[in-house]
Amino acid sequence: MTTNTMKTTAEKIGLFRMFFTGLLNVYGTYDLVTGRARQVKRAVTDRVILAHLQGKQPYGVYLLVGDRIRAVVADFDIDDLGPPMDFLASAERYGLAAYIERSKSKGYHVWMFLDEAGVSAAKARLVVRHVLEEIGQLNTEVFPKHDRLDTRTTYGNYIYAPLFGALVTKGRTVFLDPRRGLTPSADQWQFLEEVVRVKEERLDEIIEINELDRPNGRAAGLPREGIPLRPSDKTRSVFGLPPCAQRMLTEGVSDYQRVRCFRLAVQLKKAGLPEDLVVAALNAWAAKNRPTGEKRVITEDEILAQVNGAYSRDYRSCGCGDPTVAAYCDPDCPLQNGRPGKPG
Ligand code: SF4
Repeated sequence: MTTNTMKTTAEKIGLFRMFFTGLLNVYGTYDLVTGRARQVKRAVTDRVILAHLQGKQPYGVYLLVGDRIRAVVADFDIDDLGPPMDFLASAERYGLAAYIERSKSKGYHVWMFLDEAGVSAAKARLVVRHVLEEIGQLNTEVFPKHDRLDTRTTYGNYIYAPLFGALVTKGRTVFLDPRRGLTPSADQWQFLEEVVRVKEERLDEIIEINELDRPNGRAAGLPREGIPLRPSDKTRSVFGLPPCAQRMLTEGVSDYQRVRCFRLAVQLKKAGLPEDLVVAALNAWAAKNRPTGEKRVITEDEILAQVNGAYSRDYRSCGCGDPTVAAYCDPDCPLQNGRPGKPG
């Protein structure tokens, strides 16, 4: 793989610093011979970054500055790509862009890049932990590990930044491209330039919709235990689909076609339909879709991929907390009635 020779060294350092930045007076590193990790209480200069990119001295970034961060990382310490991929799929359904990096020795880091001005670490950590909970990986470490720095947490914890020169050629510390079978992105610098950052408002929406900031906040879409459902004629439908799915299926949709296709596939699977019938039903559904702007109608291959995804695991969530589903929510839905407080 290459990391692009078109950029000057100064441009690469500048680009790198836009993404892997935090405290500027301290960093982490490890000895290349012994592997021993240590903290360095010195300025994070361009020389430090260059040594990292050249593979001479690794750079570990302390992401937390006060109570703000520009990136948050889920650290999957296992060589199984399944959980990181599940994280990406779940994040995508929340409209969150996330990126998988092959870490230096074992496992994968999933990075979510945030607004350049910085966002609340507490909110970002809350949302990431919610996604981890949704995919059953709540034991996964999240960096930063704290919501804010204070007298007890002076620096927090560092995480090794990607693109350490000595490992890039070995296919480690590089970002993987899901469009190329999760092989390393051919041009890591172009990859960084195309990264989509998450805004704090998006985190606020997810927190609000899923009640994550309240005691006993629940995972998206799961009805609270012990609260009886109240089915009504209005909400009963063919296949027993909830109103949101019924509406999406009969009216078609204009955006978020892949996410909504996945949600529909999950609902149809829960209703007991075999996979091939669901593929056929969703191909018929696609004919009703009216994408906005330049977008095209979801393809048969894309439908197949979403249906395969839905049938690959035991997804149970109705997705009530997913804004792309909530837009079709019916206040009379029994699941809605089962939720005390404001609708989701
Ligand atoms: S509560 Fe709303 S979003 Fe959830 S299943 Fe019912 S209609 Fe769908």
